[in-house]
Amino acid sequence: MIEELEQRLVRYCAIDTPSDSTAPDTQIPSSACQWDLLRLLQSELQEMGAQRIELTEQGYLMASLPGSHPAPVVALLAHVDTTTQYKATGVKPLVHRKWDGAPIVLPADPSMVLKAEDSPYLARCKGHDLVTASGDTLLGADDKAGVAILMTLARHLLTHPEIPHGEVRLCFTPDEEIGRGAGKLPLETLGAEVAYTLDGGQVGELCYETFSANRAVVEITGVSIHPGYAKDKLVNALHLAARILQTLPQAQRTPETTDGRQGFLHANELKGTAHQATLTFIVRDFELEGLEAHCRLLRQVCDTVAASEPRCQINVKVIEQYRNMRYRLEQDMRPVDLAAEAYRRCGIEPDFTVLRGGTDGSILTARGLPTPNLFTGMQNFHGPLEWVSVQDMAEAVRVCSELAQLWAEVREEARDA
Ligand SMILES: [Zn+2]
Repeated sequence: MIEELEQRLVRYCAIDTPSDSTAPDTQIPSSACQWDLLRLLQSELQEMGAQRIELTEQGYLMASLPGSHPAPVVALLAHVDTTTQYKATGVKPLVHRKWDGAPIVLPADPSMVLKAEDSPYLARCKGHDLVTASGDTLLGADDKAGVAILMTLARHLLTHPEIPHGEVRLCFTPDEEIGRGAGKLPLETLGAEVAYTLDGGQVGELCYETFSANRAVVEITGVSIHPGYAKDKLVNALHLAARILQTLPQAQRTPETTDGRQGFLHANELKGTAHQATLTFIVRDFELEGLEAHCRLLRQVCDTVAASEPRCQINVKVIEQYRNMRYRLEQDMRPVDLAAEAYRRCGIEPDFTVLRGGTDGSILTARGLPTPNLFTGMQNFHGPLEWVSVQDMAEAVRVCSELAQLWAEVREEARDA
């Protein structure tokens, strides 16, 4: 299994699949290159005998591992796209077999070094087979580790029909990194009662809490006039934008001053002219009251600045993005409880850390399909020092296999009762 996982990861990482946030919203996948990996996975699933294989026009690849037991249909998801936050094309994966603990110098840029003393998690992986990129690109283990885990699981379950489980649906999705993949996933075609994304980090991570997220757009309109004749007439929208930023209590509520369960208000774009400016914020909190409070504060500051200059116009528009999946999962914790049980059966203590971000599962859970996030082992994702241990990925395969069996046991217990 180790060899298969390594080969799959290396093969998939070498295929360029960055998504493209500049593509129109209606274009899914956002980049044509994602089809290359989707089509490869489709043919590999066909070869290994998976059933009900379907690749939709929007690049959702689904397949079934038929079950021997009546049980709720469990879907397992991974995304094929990679981020563009760092160079993501021409990836040349390197395998460091039975890593001896010495610093790993990445050849394309020798200033890129992975050292055990910088990371207890890396130190723990001495003796493992590690996969990195070459120093000048990211690796793309986010989420090709998840893809390789699911493909290896597929072969494992298909070649071991004696393992008792219900139908397992695999689903490979596009455009997660730009937040567009989950919204259009055809849930009827997927036909699952519960789902899990394989998109988490270190072994043990089990996430059912994500941020709740809004976007706030502040439109500022001043008064434009020839600057040579502007005395007492010009109202500069850029100065007003600066005043809004300056008035916000940065010290307490920005990403760089918060962590853990704290939320924030983050100014992430300013564009415009003296006449008109647009200031965009992302707003994040684990609780709706907190989210509301951040938005209220922003409105108050904008109102104060607007009141100081009656000739300007300032409008604040708040747009909902996604919600903490905990709100829905709390109503039925079985998807989380069974995942935790699967971890324990593999000798792994579940770590319920909250995720300061969103996952495809945030959107799917809100759409009615409960979807917690499981670990894949990937580390330092979205950057040149990204790496993953193949042995950690193997733990994830074991967890998924146990999880499929647990859902079949739940159905049997319900019938026996
Ligand atoms: Zn991911």
